[in-house]
Amino acid sequence: MNKELLSTADLIRLEEAHGAHNYHPLDVVINRAQGVWVWDVEGNKYLDFLAAYSAVNQGHCHPRIIAALKEQADKVTLTSRAFRNDQLGPLCAEITRLSGYSRFLPMNSGAEAVETAIKAARKWAYKVKGVAEDRGEIIAFSGNFHGRTTTIVSFSTDEQYRDGFGPFTPGFRILPYGDIDAVTRAINDETIAVIVEPIQGESGIVSPGPGFLARLREVTAARQVLLMTDEIQSGLGRTGKLFCYEHDGIRPDIVIIGKALGGGCLPISGILADDEVMGVFKPGDHGSTFGGNPLACAVARVAMRVIVEEGLIENSAKLGDYFLNRLREISSPHIKELRGKGLWIGIELKPEAGGARRFCEALMKEGMLCKETHTHTIRLAPPLVISKDEIDWAVERLAKVLAMA
Ligand SMILES: *Cc1c(COP(=O)(O)O)cnc(C)c1O
Repeated sequence: MNKELLSTADLIRLEEAHGAHNYHPLDVVINRAQGVWVWDVEGNKYLDFLAAYSAVNQGHCHPRIIAALKEQADKVTLTSRAFRNDQLGPLCAEITRLSGYSRFLPMNSGAEAVETAIKAARKWAYKVKGVAEDRGEIIAFSGNFHGRTTTIVSFSTDEQYRDGFGPFTPGFRILPYGDIDAVTRAINDETIAVIVEPIQGESGIVSPGPGFLARLREVTAARQVLLMTDEIQSGLGRTGKLFCYEHDGIRPDIVIIGKALGGGCLPISGILADDEVMGVFKPGDHGSTFGGNPLACAVARVAMRVIVEEGLIENSAKLGDYFLNRLREISSPHIKELRGKGLWIGIELKPEAGGARRFCEALMKEGMLCKETHTHTIRLAPPLVISKDEIDWAVERLAKVLAMA
């Protein structure tokens, strides 16, 4: 099977026959990518408007990142944390200098980093704050997406993410996103942390409203409750700042990162915090075989440098504004609302439009890959290396597709 050419239909058939059906992808089979563009096995070219849920902020196969990947792959790829490697220390030094936190703890997937934040908060509450063991409660918000582990889906409000996966982990309370009064009322002596997305991506690029994060910071600080922001999708330049929480002028206690930290190459995630919180972890308390591996660390070091040195944060801010303004000029009977920050835009369609999926399928035929989120929203999140001309190209196609009946 190695050299024969398999068609799109052949490859889809193999996946459907032998893979688990836990996704419903668009039927495009990609085998090559560069920058903002991807190609399918038949050679058709598409502009990627999902960027692997913001894991490819630097663009596909960025030359500097691929060079670092290859160079490190020839040296050493995995040591485990039983030994030290020469990439982890420099990564920790660089990422803490950039973020202004004093320590970094590396994991692999985003969900593992969220789990790490939960463990850090609980241990901090019992060992430092003095909350009675096993009594700590963490506040999360409706519409959240923090990953897929059994503990994390325990505080999801999406029925499908939970259905059939109980029993669930206790210790979480869910409040309405953006409702600061609900938070103020809910906090008690056993509240240990709040976990929040500064903008909810999976929910459809939903903002909690002006002032919410700043108030949340005040309320949590006043009650000695940790504020943990999940920046896995919103961070690393996506919204026109390094971290989305910067728009609100706050400083969380724990910042959870992932996705674009791996430069679109491989999984690396982690949490950033200061000594008081990170200091709760002693040798043996927590870990991961692949966490902090030299291959991922070498890639992450360059991935961050690319975001900063190549002006991707500024590009996201500037072209995000431009894109949103161009989209506002589109006349379509289907658009209910346009929302966005930086190059992270949601087009929410009216319920009578019949769902966003058919528009995403029509956009695919026009050479644009987008994925609907929560039935009615088209999410636009291209790699941050996109140019103004490419945005103009996309606006033309969006206008055409959104004009269809
Ligand atoms: C993607 C995502 C996660 C989970 O990351 P995985 O790498 O898929 O485990 C958590 N939180 C947010 C906000 C995300 O977008």
